Amino acid sequence: MESLVGELKKQVKGAVLSDLPTRRRASRDASIYELVPDVVVEPQDAADIEKLVSFVSEQKKLYPKLSITPRAAGTDMSGGAIGNSILLEMTPHFNEIKGLKKNILHTQPGAFVRDIDPFLTSKGLQLGCAPASRELCTIGGIVGNNSGGEQSLRYGNADRSVRELDVVLADGNTYTIKPLTKKQLDKKLFEDSFEANLYRRVFALIENNYDTVRNARPHTNKNSMGYNLWDVWDRDTGIFDMTKLFTGSQGTLGVITDIKIETVPKASHSGLLLAYLPSLKHLGEVIETVMRHNPATFEGFDDITFNLGIRYFKTFRRQLGTRTYLRQQAHLVKSVAKFKGHLPNILLMIEFEGESPDEVLRKIENLYDDLKRFKIRMDIENTKEGSAPFWQIRRASLSLLRNQVSGRYASPFIDDMTVQPRYLAKFIPELRKIIRKYKLPATIQGHFGDGNFHIIPLMDIVGTKDQAKLEPVMRELIPIVLKYGGTMAGEHNDGMVRGSWLPAVFGQEVYALFREVKEIFDSQYIFNPHKKTDASWDFSMSHIRTSNDDGLIK
Ligand SMILES: Cc1cc2nc3c(=O)[nH]c(=O)nc-3n(C[C@H](O)[C@H](O)[C@H](O)COP(=O)(O)OP(=O)(O)OC[C@H]3O[C@@H](n4cnc5c(N)ncnc54)[C@H](O)[C@@H]3O)c2cc1C
Repeated sequence: MESLVGELKKQVKGAVLSDLPTRRRASRDASIYELVPDVVVEPQDAADIEKLVSFVSEQKKLYPKLSITPRAAGTDMSGGAIGNSILLEMTPHFNEIKGLKKNILHTQPGAFVRDIDPFLTSKGLQLGCAPASRELCTIGGIVGNNSGGEQSLRYGNADRSVRELDVVLADGNTYTIKPLTKKQLDKKLFEDSFEANLYRRVFALIENNYDTVRNARPHTNKNSMGYNLWDVWDRDTGIFDMTKLFTGSQGTLGVITDIKIETVPKASHSGLLLAYLPSLKHLGEVIETVMRHNPATFEGFDDITFNLGIRYFKTFRRQLGTRTYLRQQAHLVKSVAKFKGHLPNILLMIEFEGESPDEVLRKIENLYDDLKRFKIRMDIENTKEGSAPFWQIRRASLSLLRNQVSGRYASPFIDDMTVQPRYLAKFIPELRKIIRKYKLPATIQGHFGDGNFHIIPLMDIVGTKDQAKLEPVMRELIPIVLKYGGTMAGEHNDGMVRGSWLPAVFGQEVYALFREVKEIFDSQYIFNPHKKTDASWDFSMSHIRTSNDDGLIK
């Protein structure tokens, strides 16, 4: 290992760190896994990454286990941001927000969303795919995972917004990936280069399996499983767009060094209808009713999350600043006083936007009237200020669970199931049956309008008894999710937790195409091994994290 560190130091300008505290800090993301890297590298520029990739490529025959795992903020829930060889830390030097051209944001991948957000807000814009973890994560992680969030109901996941990427590929060179017209593609296909060969092979793969590929697309508003082959080549429009393949590829095809991504307008006025459900009984029908009103966003969380949010609201003081914190806390206390300690089972947050406060209120009241027949309690928060504490809890819901519940770990493995919302009334009882059967103390939060649920059981993940539940629960849930036209990951991707289930979800034929994608771009398996098509359940199970504490998210 010392010789590896010495060699890497000769190759790159950025820091090469092999001390145990640094390696241990980088050994976890927000998943149930742990992989200690041999070395952590902080590349200073794209040239550093190019040299590193060339070095690994040259050394692969002698040292087959050498590999590179890109990592941004490390909030990945699937085990995508950890690796046991060279871990590439993108946040120290790849964090420049380069600017805005019309509504296209130009940025480096290690820029934090908490820095991008105020920059865009000042221009009346926002990211349409920002996740609930927007205070923690980076834009590179969003693209890496094909993330989505509250705005995805209208704007989709990252793959719908990414316009151009610079990527270091397996030959150690940087390439710009962007949509090509058929004419541009034809020109590219005739070139004699490493890049042209990739285009030829991907084009042939899709063209020869066109219907299979198009039919493989999950019938949901969002998906981050597999490789998004179905959106790359469209015979009707004649557009060939490989940004779709790289978005959501979890660093398994190359390292992204530069991003151009479309932003969307941020409404001047918005407000919430809060609908409190005493049980999940009418959830499906309520969701159908809400969706007929075309809300801007539609989120929700359960009583455990709500309770944690109220009890630990004080932990937001630093992030919010004292004045805002006090204002929000007072509003929250007043708002929940009516429950006298008995919180409702589910809180739905239905957001409407408009050009004026009156327009927002009118939209909220229309839905209010329509939902009255369910005899549920509802509150109107028709200003951004009144809505703010509820957004605060929703966006921090998993962190609250992680930070405030000790002795058990909020364990993501069925954390991102997404079904067509019209089937929710049937899906939810079947889901609850399995949760009860395996005695999973689960919390529910999520993007209800997309049928996207985050079920994150509190488990003794270190103990073999709870670990033994993972495989049978996955095996039983996948057919149910598929029956309702769904996917096991709407936005959290495959990583180590779902990679080995890709054949079960997509079938062997499509899985073989996914594997071919990996082979085309990375035949030496330089990039992020043990994830997606390269994952194996046994490898993942032998690298479950070694403690139930929250771990090491920056
Ligand atoms: C509290 C909490 C709430 C969350 N809520 C959501 C949510 O609402 N929606 C959602 O989608 N996700 C959510 N997540 C998961 C996660 O935060 C997101 O997927 C986020 O976008 C990951 O960003 P990151 O910067 O932490 O990336 P990382 O975790 O560091 O990396 C994510 C993946 O991208 C790859 N990657 C990173 N940088 C590059 C690069 N330069 N080139 C190539 N590949 C790269 C990594 O290898 C990894 O596979 C949540 C997580 C937490 C802890």
